[in-house]
Amino acid sequence: MEYHDSEKAREVASRVEAFMDEVVIPREREALRTGDHISDDVLTDLWEQAKERDLFAPQVPEEFGGQGLDFSDMLPSFEQVGRSLIGAEAIRANAPQEGNMHTLEMVGTEEQKERWLRPLVSGEMQSAFSMTEPMQGAGSDPKMLRTTAYKDGDEWVINGHKWWSSDGYDADFLLVMARTDMDAHPYEGTSIILVPTDTDGVELVRNVDHLGSHLLENPGGHAEVKYRDVRVPVENTVGPENGGFRVAQMRLGGGRLTHCMRFSGMAQRSLEIAKAYVSERAGFGSDLSEKQALRQRIAEAETRLHMARTGVRHAARELDESDARIEVAMSKVFTARVTNEIIDLAIQCCGGNGIAKDLPLAHFYEGVRAFRIFDGADEVHLRSIARDAFEDVDDAEVENVLRFDPELTPENVLE
Ligand SMILES: Cc1cc2nc3c(=O)[nH]c(=O)nc-3n(C[C@H](O)[C@H](O)[C@H](O)COP(=O)(O)OP(=O)(O)OC[C@H]3O[C@@H](n4cnc5c(N)ncnc54)[C@H](O)[C@@H]3O)c2cc1C
Repeated sequence: MEYHDSEKAREVASRVEAFMDEVVIPREREALRTGDHISDDVLTDLWEQAKERDLFAPQVPEEFGGQGLDFSDMLPSFEQVGRSLIGAEAIRANAPQEGNMHTLEMVGTEEQKERWLRPLVSGEMQSAFSMTEPMQGAGSDPKMLRTTAYKDGDEWVINGHKWWSSDGYDADFLLVMARTDMDAHPYEGTSIILVPTDTDGVELVRNVDHLGSHLLENPGGHAEVKYRDVRVPVENTVGPENGGFRVAQMRLGGGRLTHCMRFSGMAQRSLEIAKAYVSERAGFGSDLSEKQALRQRIAEAETRLHMARTGVRHAARELDESDARIEVAMSKVFTARVTNEIIDLAIQCCGGNGIAKDLPLAHFYEGVRAFRIFDGADEVHLRSIARDAFEDVDDAEVENVLRFDPELTPENVLE
């Protein structure tokens, strides 16, 4: 499918595609065959090759070691890297690292950018975003945040309990969301504070085992973290004090969309695998690709994926200009559903080979399910879309609808 992406976006994406086909996907196939984890050495080698090809960290400004692409221009490259389980990591465009880079780039001080962003981009450092808390703390409703930070002299003292801090076990620092003004509404009284992981009082409790913890996944995992009287300098505040929710919204808007891009690539590759399989596999007197039942479902899937990719392109253009809250919410819900359906269909088309882990489909299937939950569950985004949809209801549209005559209502008749 041809999209009207800019010339620059297409040029970079075609080089990313070549890198994926020539280097990354062969590596992925090898790992699937051997069952070996992608080691740090393999990852470093992939980074070196991505750097040689000028593909490293396309989303980051050039001054910090990236390629300086905005959301619209990074989009087709992110779709390409989504085709492999290790694609995004291979060019350092994986969550949560790219979202954390974006946060520091947007609101970090010059000193924070030098000290934390630069090594984060290069891969010398890793990071985690620590917002979600166990019940009854912040989850779908972020206003329920219970982690606190108070000032003692020129230090923050942080106490709280988080989980799902992705890559937490690899992280050199955590971006912690904490209530910093208990008298204010949480949206006006929360800050993001950068906490080096080796600070006294930071306890990595466990790596949360989960659906989709596959052999190619970054060993950084998803950490449960306790913060007990953790002290960091006040200058570790990232963005405005008490402005953490606004920064988180900016971070999450981009993060949701880059997830849509990567998972669209994963769905596209799943369809390519399914089509290749049914084109070779014979049964009941013909190739499976000739069975109308499968052809119709693949046609539906191609159509819905095209709609998702078009919607994400529109949202990315809007996000380059504004917060694009509703466009991003719509893209997140729709793309999450479509990519889940398509990967399920691809497995069905491949039969036992869909379930076996010789192909990446089973890994994709495990990985894509969480997309309907993280960065806001479907229902939470639909809630925002519905609120917006009901904002300017026009009474005139139902002017002609017959109403019960008020004179004949029970209240009037039985008086
Ligand atoms: C793989 C993975 C990675 C993650 N990475 C990170 C990370 O790096 N950092 C971080 O801070 N968090 C992370 N998260 C956490 C994630 O953002 C939360 O799980 C998500 O926001 C939902 O919160 P919850 O789990 O507390 O669900 P709950 O708030 O308990 O909600 C449960 C379910 O209720 C439904 N629901 C909720 N609200 C409504 C409503 N208003 N109307 C109808 N239904 C509703 C939804 O279906 C939802 O799934 C990650 C999660 C996963 C699975």
